[in-house]
Amino acid sequence: MQLPNTPREFQLWVDGQSVRSSEGDWIERESPGHGVPVTRVPAGTAADVDRAVAAARVAFEKGTWPWTMGSQRATVLTDVARRVRNASDELAYWETLESGKPISQSRAEVEWTAGLWEYAAALSRNLHGDSCNTLGEGTLAMTLRDPIGVVGLITPWNFPMLIISQKLPFALAAGCTCVIKPSEMTSATTLLLAEICAEAGVPGGVINVVTGYGDPVGRCIAEHDDIDMVSFTGSTAVGKAIARSAAGNLKKVSLELGGKNPLIVMDDADLDAAVDAGRLGAFFNMGECCNASSRILVQEGIADEFSRRMTAFAAELKVGDPLAEDSKLGAIINGTQEQKILSYIQAGKAAGTTVCMGGGKMATKTGRFLEVTVLDHVPADSSVAKEEVFGPVLSIIRFKTLDEAIAIANGTDYGLSAGVFTNDYNQAMKASRSLRAGTVWVNTWLEGHAELSFGGYQQSGLGRELGRKAVEEYTEEKSVLLSLGKRQP
Ligand code: NAD
Repeated sequence: MQLPNTPREFQLWVDGQSVRSSEGDWIERESPGHGVPVTRVPAGTAADVDRAVAAARVAFEKGTWPWTMGSQRATVLTDVARRVRNASDELAYWETLESGKPISQSRAEVEWTAGLWEYAAALSRNLHGDSCNTLGEGTLAMTLRDPIGVVGLITPWNFPMLIISQKLPFALAAGCTCVIKPSEMTSATTLLLAEICAEAGVPGGVINVVTGYGDPVGRCIAEHDDIDMVSFTGSTAVGKAIARSAAGNLKKVSLELGGKNPLIVMDDADLDAAVDAGRLGAFFNMGECCNASSRILVQEGIADEFSRRMTAFAAELKVGDPLAEDSKLGAIINGTQEQKILSYIQAGKAAGTTVCMGGGKMATKTGRFLEVTVLDHVPADSSVAKEEVFGPVLSIIRFKTLDEAIAIANGTDYGLSAGVFTNDYNQAMKASRSLRAGTVWVNTWLEGHAELSFGGYQQSGLGRELGRKAVEEYTEEKSVLLSLGKRQP
């Protein structure tokens, strides 16, 4: 696959068309894997956000989308899914060039993306309220689900297409209109998706995309008085800033934030299966994954063998050109992130961990590649064991009893996902009940389905995405009471 000769230029997407930003500044994106510029997007302004919000407001108040029948919305959303699959090569190419992830993983992301649009299509025909039958002979009462209004959607760089698709189709299924801000590093596929939506029949103004930096674009969306809800995926620190900004008009806030996800491996576990799942969890997407199994808690009796097998198995992972079909890990998103990962490895070494493999930069001519790193004997209270590293670094922490493992697992500020490998039903149930996380995997990891809700405990988030209530998240519930006879004074 060839690199583009010149960076591909994109514009903002407002009111159903490409438009220029109010000022002429650009953000140029270098491919992390190749070190050459590949895209340019406008650095949006507060005025651009105002224009996008105005378009979304008109589409909500005066447009047809909020009143379109669920079956018709389903037709449009299903057609988006079809078009996403048809555009798989193009979408995967730009996703890989901007993010540095392997092309095979970008293609998988396209397929998952299409699946989310199909699931939202199914849900758009299934939005129901309640009726109340116990208010007496002269009264009929029901609840309705109204679309919440104009929704701001702010997304990170690690799964650009997938994460916008955990939000946008469900907001559309509810009848909302949207203003989207993708990450300044990975805006291309979100803009391409907006065009695909227009081709599939989403009316102008229903979807608007303002590219640019967190400040001003993201901040203005979070603060905007004419936005009714903001749904954010990103770091816990920015999530807190968004919650504060959103308080101005008390807009609803949904937050999908960071994680430091523990995978517990008990003595009786199927070791090969645990190593396989742990490797996938730790190194998928270069470990730049909110659901990374970045700390694996291993019971003492099998810890040496687990560590040996994991190191051997991780050594098979090929790190290299993200456009190459056989690369399993690509490049790190930017220099800041690379430095952060390396400093966690240094802190781990200083805390007395054993470096089983990796620990540094790869010697390559171009691109930003880190070695696959496995650390053993990691102290449970060290920074590499408790904080989100967001890179290809796996920490093995040893423990004696399940109670001890659960205490370590629950001992961070996060609570996104967790897991346990065991063949003992009682241990599996005990761990499932005790782990404070939005998702608990038993004898598997990273298996996600649109049918299951996703979100975090504690500082991993607020609210849930996906699952059968995913569309309800974007609605207000209204009680309607009808007095059937003459009102009694
Ligand atoms: P980030 O928080 O730095 O940025 C996320 C988005 O917020 C970007 O679009 C950014 O431009 C914008 N932003 C930055 N400052 C802002 C502000 N003041 N107001 C409004 N918007 C602002 O996160 P990131 O580095 O892009 O992504 C990595 C983080 O995302 C990790 O912590 C990861 O765990 C988390 N994440 C969580 C999930 C989940 O589902 N829980 C999924 C993916 C990533």
